[in-house]
Amino acid sequence: MQNVKIEPGCISCGSCEFLAPEVFQVVVTSQVKQGVDLQQYEDRIRLAAAKCPVQVIKIKE
Ligand code: SF4
Repeated sequence: MQNVKIEPGCISCGSCEFLAPEVFQVVVTSQVKQGVDLQQYEDRIRLAAAKCPVQVIKIKE
């Protein structure tokens, strides 16, 4: 997993922040926090991406 980004279209539901609070922070829309060790939270990132209702969490492998 090289990178995680949020594409336009987030509806600010809060699901990703709930599932992986170390990685995602919903301000106006969801953001990936700076300096996060993605490998450490890989399972939760994948879960958050799978559960996003509008599928805007994109993982680059
Ligand atoms: S789960 Fe998806 S729609 Fe919900 S806050 Fe996160 S990125 Fe936005």
